[in-house]
Amino acid sequence: MISFSGRLVLLDIEGTTSNIAFVHEILFPYARQHAGPYLEKNATHPEVRKALDLMALDAGAADFAGWCPEAWPADNAREWLVAQIFHWMDADAKLTGLKNLQGLIWEAAYLEGGLRAPVFGDVPARIRVWHAAGISVRIYSSGSVAAQKLLFSHTEAGDLTPWLSGYYDTTIGAKREAASYATIVRDAGVPPKESLFLSDVPEELDAASSAGLKVALVERPGNRPVSATRHPRIVGFDEISIPGVG
Ligand SMILES: [Mg+2]
Repeated sequence: MISFSGRLVLLDIEGTTSNIAFVHEILFPYARQHAGPYLEKNATHPEVRKALDLMALDAGAADFAGWCPEAWPADNAREWLVAQIFHWMDADAKLTGLKNLQGLIWEAAYLEGGLRAPVFGDVPARIRVWHAAGISVRIYSSGSVAAQKLLFSHTEAGDLTPWLSGYYDTTIGAKREAASYATIVRDAGVPPKESLFLSDVPEELDAASSAGLKVALVERPGNRPVSATRHPRIVGFDEISIPGVG
């Protein structure tokens, strides 16, 4: 049990609010499985055309028309592109255009396909309690802010965004750098010592701790075991006690 009497709780997602397996065993396979059908249905959508041009840039071409050897959106053009996408996915390529298209596929999955993001059982109730106690609850994850908002709008426990006050991704800085945490607490208007950061990654806790935040290591089912860390450990958010709240 750790006691916290501050005004900001900053949460990591993967391994903290949600199972690590969700991204790797659900989201990425979903994007792969639905890439072909999604492109067939949305071939001429402006957002899709933008993603196609970004993919062409990733491949070293000036634009999609100059990259794709077939006339878009004919069947053979889509087959050619899907083969390229699978090749990148197999190589786990971190490319802007590919990420962009994956984001569009996931957005459609949440909005139309009934996809729901898992959160650990203690998460919804605790963030409601913290919010009601006047604590600002915010998210800091390597996934884009847009993807974070989609996730928390469509969890298995419903829409949790009414209790979340801010979202940060790596455009604000890397998760293992102290400066990122200093920037976030400044943005939230809360002193570092009144802020608590929860994550499953010791190096992220080291960085936040260096910036003056309180931290705790979250040990969820499916997380990689952490042998040595100087930080307190919790298995769930119920282990954080807030004076006057419980
Ligand atoms: Mg994590």
